[in-house]
Amino acid sequence: MKLTKEDKELIRKAEKLWEKEYVSKKHSVSAIIVTSKGNIFEGMSMEDIQTGICAERTAFFKMMPKEREIKTIVAVYKDKVIPPCGICREIMYNMSEKNLENTEVIVSKEHKVKLKELFPFPWKKAFH
Ligand SMILES: [Zn+2]
Repeated sequence: MKLTKEDKELIRKAEKLWEKEYVSKKHSVSAIIVTSKGNIFEGMSMEDIQTGICAERTAFFKMMPKEREIKTIVAVYKDKVIPPCGICREIMYNMSEKNLENTEVIVSKEHKVKLKELFPFPWKKAFH
């Protein structure tokens, strides 16, 4: 899918967050979530701890448990939009199965896809 004006504004917001909060080898990716209720949550990756946490996950932690449904998500590294890693894709599905159909993942400065297109076979779904 092509990006809307709102999607492009969200990318700019993630880029501004990155420019403000980037610290080499500590916080190198920014992420922004718009929930199904229209609330916005921001996150920066955390590489300064032993295991590391993605920017998307720090934003997930801020929205839960009050909210679990994501309308749109974007992550930025330097001047690039980057897609979520495999673990974050699984976590979005685990947060709410509705995210598979409803969440729009901005994957580049031109395109977005539904989570189900990016992640057609959730691991957890195999156990249902
Ligand atoms: Zn991730």
